[in-house]
Parts: sequence; C-alpha cells; structure tokens
Amino acid sequence: MKSIIFIAPPASGKGTLSKILEENYDYKHLSTGDCLREEIEKGNSELEEIMKTGKLLNDEIILSLVAEKISSLKGRPFILDGCPRTINQAEILTKLLKDAKVTDVIVVKLNITDNVAMERILGRVVCSCGKSYNIYNDEFKPETDGICDKCNQKLVKRTDDTEDKILIRINEYKKNIEPIVNFYNKKEILFEVDATGNIEDILKNVKGLIQDDSKRT
Ligand code: AMP
Repeated sequence: MKSIIFIAPPASGKGTLSKILEENYDYKHLSTGDCLREEIEKGNSELEEIMKTGKLLNDEIILSLVAEKISSLKGRPFILDGCPRTINQAEILTKLLKDAKVTDVIVVKLNITDNVAMERILGRVVCSCGKSYNIYNDEFKPETDGICDKCNQKLVKRTDDTEDKILIRINEYKKNIEPIVNFYNKKEILFEVDATGNIEDILKNVKGLIQDDSKRT
C-alpha cells in the first residue's frame, strides 16, 4: 500500500479523508496539526501562541515531530496530513523518507476554492478524539447538536477557525504551494484531486490513486 502525503488548503477535507482511509486500510494517520495540538494539551504554551495566529511553525520543530512518528511506524504505510507546507519542509521530508527507506509514496494535492474553504471552516466543530463535523452541512452534522457521535464528548470550535485566521492560513498556503507542486511534479509523484464535491467522490478518486498511480495527470 502506498503512503500518502496530502498537500491541500485548509478545510479541503484531508483530515476527514485520512480518518476514513485509516479505518478502511492499514494506514496510520499522521496529522502535524493534531500532533501540535497534543503538545499544547501537554502544556506547551509557546506553540499555542503561534498556532492561534494561523501562522506556520518552525520547519525544524515540525520535521522532528514527523521523523519521530514515521520511525515509530516501522514501515507501516502512513497518511501525512499537514506537511510539507514549505519547500524547505518538502526537501527535509524527502531526505527523511529516504533515510527511513520509505519509497512507495504518492503526493495528493486536494483542490478547493477559497469560498468553499471559508464555508467549511466557519461551520467546523471538532472533538478531542479527532473527529470533525460541520454544522452547516447535513452530511457532516453531529446526530445531537454539540456532541460527538463517536465518543459523546462535547464538540468545540478550534481557536484558529475564525474568519481573519482563515484568511491568514489560506494566504500562507498560496504563498508556499507553487514551489512544492513543482518539486513533486519533477519527481513525478504528484496527483491532483478536485475536493469540492461530496466525500464519496473524493474518496473514490483517492482510492483509485492508491491502487493505480499510472493515471497521473
Ligand atoms: P492544521 O490542523 O493542519 O490546519 O494545522 C493547524 C496549525 O498548525 C497551522 O495553521 C500551523 O500553525 C500549524 N502547523 C501544522 N502543520 C504545520 C507545518 N507542516 N508547518 C508549520 N506549521 C504547521
């Protein structure tokens, strides 16, 4: 099974897709955002201050977290969600994967418009178990308002899911994405998927790529 690196704007559905793929295949979902939120839960207030602004954290901090997680997997395929977000991260990640002897990997770029991203983020509520919902979308609403279907815990809004922070995050993405796309295109491992539709269609396209990467566009 090919490991997957998702590169995608905020709210492209990469977290939801990753969770579904993890439940259906032997994947381990590695989300850098979740890893950072776990560090914050443990009391790292410095990280919390930066994350609240919507700005990116230092490349070295991120890649050392990723390296630690990947080496603990001992060859199990993974879905990397949230990294690389800069060309420097892409270069360090390539070296890291080579050292870890991870060769069967594809990069999937999920595409959505800014308006769709904004609507999805403003409606997003999350549970500490990692499941996320959207109060404006019937497909993703929790069964009971404000409560997680899976573990009955209270759903909350992420502190960086506000309109001004979303614009910062979308702009950070746009500023950095082009060199990353060129980098992976040269390596011929990049695939693009339209992520504006419903989750079944997006999932079908991603599954097609995991099973057959001869369909590169
Ligand atoms: P996410 O959950 O992927 O939307 O990430 C939430 C926030 O965590 C981002 O807005 C950044 O502040 C930080 N973050 C996550 N991944 C990275 C990364 N690869 N590089 C830098 N900052 C990151």
